[in-house]
Amino acid sequence: MDFKLHRIFTGRMGSNAYLVSFGSLAAAIDAGMGSALADYAEKNKLKIEMCLLTHGHFDHIGACAELQRRGTKIGISEKDADKLYTGNNLGGEFGVETEPLQPDFTFRGGEEIDFHGFSFRVLETPGHSAGSVCFLTPLGIFSGDTLFCGGVGRTDFYDGDPDALSASLAALFAAEEDAPVYPGHGFSTTLKREKETNPYL
Ligand SMILES: [Zn+2]
Repeated sequence: MDFKLHRIFTGRMGSNAYLVSFGSLAAAIDAGMGSALADYAEKNKLKIEMCLLTHGHFDHIGACAELQRRGTKIGISEKDADKLYTGNNLGGEFGVETEPLQPDFTFRGGEEIDFHGFSFRVLETPGHSAGSVCFLTPLGIFSGDTLFCGGVGRTDFYDGDPDALSASLAALFAAEEDAPVYPGHGFSTTLKREKETNPYL
């Protein structure tokens, strides 16, 4: 059986959620806001077994509490885990309240998370937030708000760090020669294309 990639636009912040599906089972990368991801899964008869978060900002985690109630295991980096339950996730700054939750599991970078034989390698990429990570997979890189098509993540939030972001981007570009890149906002791109054309690098 093949692993399939699905991209779902969620909410007014334009955050992307992704699903990697295996038959009727799926792993989500970020949850986005509102019910877009859950609705998509229901319509396509997919059960979301786990949701791996690239970081803890409100526009990527807003849908997590409801997903968790429906049986999805939520995973986030140790350093961003508090954003799930303290509400200290920029929601207030944007006038959005998120429902608090506890993660089901955490990671620190370097792990390989298995989804029915499909591997998500966790690369720690702090800078946009202290606990931002990218997931390196056979289908491509899920880059969260670290790397975008033609841009990079903001570092002017409370736990952002421009020097850390530069180091993280260097590590990301060193990790693979080329690969599709699926960012937390906007269009997909490739590592090679960003290396050659991204004005922020
Ligand atoms: Zn963010």
